[in-house]
Amino acid sequence: MKVLVTGGAGYIGSHTVVLLIEAGYDVVVFDNFCNASIESIRRVEKIVGEEITVIEGDIRNREDLHQVFNAHKIDAVIHFAGLKAVGESVEEPLKYYDNNVNGTAVLCEVMAEYNCKSIVFSSSATVYGDPHTTPITEDFPLSATNPYGRSKLFVEEILRDVYLANNEWKVVLLRYFNPVGAHKSGTIGEDPNGIPNNLMPFITQTAVGKRDVLSVFGDDYDTVDGTGVRDYIHVVDLADGHVKALDKIKNFTKVMTINLGTGKGYSVLEMVKAFEKASGKKVPYQIAPRRAGDIATCFADPSYAKKILDWEATKGIDEMCEDSWKWQRRNPDGF
Ligand code: NAD
Ligand code: UDP
Repeated sequence: MKVLVTGGAGYIGSHTVVLLIEAGYDVVVFDNFCNASIESIRRVEKIVGEEITVIEGDIRNREDLHQVFNAHKIDAVIHFAGLKAVGESVEEPLKYYDNNVNGTAVLCEVMAEYNCKSIVFSSSATVYGDPHTTPITEDFPLSATNPYGRSKLFVEEILRDVYLANNEWKVVLLRYFNPVGAHKSGTIGEDPNGIPNNLMPFITQTAVGKRDVLSVFGDDYDTVDGTGVRDYIHVVDLADGHVKALDKIKNFTKVMTINLGTGKGYSVLEMVKAFEKASGKKVPYQIAPRRAGDIATCFADPSYAKKILDWEATKGIDEMCEDSWKWQRRNPDGF
């Protein structure tokens, strides 16, 4: 089975490419490298011990996509390509709607032209907005608080409509919680541009000496220690969820919506402590005001993923911290 991985040079994509190849899938990576480096693919090649087919192109460009589908008989698409910076999406909403929403529409049109109707899409727990309670099940009400989140909601709706119009489509909407960690080899990992927005890369960059101090955004939430609680999931577990989704897609036609999380929530200060234990490094921090748009608590009920995909997270918080640190320590400046 040949799989097109859009955004396959990125953080989650590169880890998924490793597992897909190890599971015996043929892989074609498609990426415009707006937030990734070809070096990530070179390192994936070292891990798996084979050359990877990479096509540089943009999902919004039909010609680029035709080039892929003409050259390869693609059976399914795992669609990671997209922009993901929440703050930037507030400042430049049209850029996000063009890239994430329009880009997906163009991709689906070209897929249909070549009779490729299987897609696994990277959605996010952000589509639950501020959940009324936790753990979060897939049937919770949906909402978005910023253009990035809205782009995910729109794409989910678009893919549901695509299926309604032609139920030969097979659609899996994977709602990720908070991916962290890196491949065991320490050779691929998360490499954010500029100052990291997310907690784990900020912690690792502080530990490695690139940042002075971590700002903890708020200590007055109604949580175990007042800091925000999230469901951190090891990126290799997340990647494995995609392989399981692809295995499943062979035997069904419908839309499936699945949470990928561990079901456990950790506070910011618990993460700092776990990281210090795993790395032996002190992470200086200061309490700062709440970040606009943040919620107190968010963690998954992952039981549907277990039932439908026979998938569950296997790596705990210590391994997440160890692997994040190994990647950062060996690659202080990223790729
Ligand atoms: P990433 O930025 O590392 O990877 C995205 C990749 O897509 C990059 O390699 C980028 O160059 C490529 N890309 C972007 N726009 C493109 C376009 N128009 N055409 C071709 N390639 C394009 O991000 P990631 O963390 O690996 O996230 C992958 C997906 O998962 C994204 O859709 C993201 O929104 C979603 N997601 C991420 C998180 C997270 O916390 N990392 C959480 C939930 C959902
Ligand atoms: N956070 C923090 N300092 C940072 C980055 C994040 O205190 O520099 C907190 C944030 O307020 C939230 C948690 O860490 O409670 C996870 O934030 P992240 O941006 O990684 O993920 P998301 O907000 O998307 O869940």
